[in-house]
Amino acid sequence: MNKIIFYSTNLKAKEANIREVILNGLAEDKGLYMPKSFPVFTKEELDSLKEMDYREIAFMVMKKFLHGFIEDKALEKICRDSYNFPIPLEKLDETKYIMRLDKGPTAAFKDFAARAMARIMQQFTEEDKKELLILTATSGDTGSAVANAFHNLDNIEVVILFPEKEVTERQRKLMTTLGGNITAISVNGKFDDCQALVKDAFVDKELNSLNLSSANSINFARLMPQIVYYVYAYSRLGKVNFSVPSGNFGDLMGGLIAKKMGLPVDKFIVAVNENDEFMKFYKTSIYEKISPSRNCLSNAMNVGHPSNFARLAALYNGIIDDNGIFSKMPDMEAIRKDMWAYSVTDEQTKEEIKSVYERYHTLIEPHGAVGLYAYERYLEETKDNTITVCFETADPAKFPETIREVLNIEPKLPDSMKLALEKEEKIGKIPNDYKIFKEFLLTNFSR
Ligand SMILES: *Cc1c(COP(=O)(O)O)cnc(C)c1O
Repeated sequence: MNKIIFYSTNLKAKEANIREVILNGLAEDKGLYMPKSFPVFTKEELDSLKEMDYREIAFMVMKKFLHGFIEDKALEKICRDSYNFPIPLEKLDETKYIMRLDKGPTAAFKDFAARAMARIMQQFTEEDKKELLILTATSGDTGSAVANAFHNLDNIEVVILFPEKEVTERQRKLMTTLGGNITAISVNGKFDDCQALVKDAFVDKELNSLNLSSANSINFARLMPQIVYYVYAYSRLGKVNFSVPSGNFGDLMGGLIAKKMGLPVDKFIVAVNENDEFMKFYKTSIYEKISPSRNCLSNAMNVGHPSNFARLAALYNGIIDDNGIFSKMPDMEAIRKDMWAYSVTDEQTKEEIKSVYERYHTLIEPHGAVGLYAYERYLEETKDNTITVCFETADPAKFPETIREVLNIEPKLPDSMKLALEKEEKIGKIPNDYKIFKEFLLTNFSR
């Protein structure tokens, strides 16, 4: 098995291996790391999936990237420990399935990536006898998943920045009640501002001594575990379409990479909320980021300039810089062949929650509703009756206000969340100002 070599989407950083990629997070030219060539699934591997459980599939997929850097035994354990919760595939009707990716400890699909990434990073820092400071910007769910995954790990500190007005109380409490090595900070700005603060810190040479790394989906370690559930869905249902509620496109990238590795997938339905920059790009080939991003009910998808967009472009032979300017257009024909993009309004999101509840007696939350609604428009428009797996990316109990308003019922709180809600919160606060953020890091985390 050859080791995979990574390059930066800005093309100005030196090449790196997976270990460097995971520990660095972002390349030194602010680009995103991408594999120069992708490992592939053999026919035998695809045929053998049926007999494997989720953890075995996770091991098979991640080994393709980590081979030579983590021993098989250690990687098997990482997969076993990370995926100790159910992954239900619910059939709604002849063509429509929901895959519930919301059964992890913070009740959002981000647990899938965060739990594996934390364990992989810990393995590397132990080997290096190094301490690591993880910086993460969150629009709600990343922060809680990352905080939970890294909580109490040795030699790793985590700082989470969240937009003070854009996360729900429950999302916030999942990050602010842990304490210990987890520091949660509210910023008076938007998610994109938090992301910009983090990105600036990464390229600031004066912070080198802090040994920074990233747990955002700019880190390839966040994408790798997200390849796995696409493969898992294939193992149970064969060749299907996927409808993916999308914000920063980390989830979608997992699927696109799976396809690139040879997983048979027909179409990816790229479902976005009113932040519709990608749908416009898909239709017109013109990309204009939305700034500031629009506040929608599916708040983890309130992203006006997806951080993984440069990766998506790169996958289709395009080159785009941090500001969203193309120096080389991607292959739009191939993009339109693999994907179908749709933007869903808040009104339609609520309508879908109600209608899914009435038609199928199934409770979904705003992000999943965006995915299901987009799929139903796709079906109507294309008549493509390929089985489609729609991801439900969070538990409805994370969005009780919307569920109450639409259905007048109280979503049942998962046990994992009950605990967090009762504990005391600790929240730091900074203005949207890089100088102050930097000062804060140097004061609190210099060694
Ligand atoms: C983060 C998130 C999304 C969007 O995922 P991306 O990888 O950013 O596209 C969708 N739903 C929920 C619940 C999320 O937390």
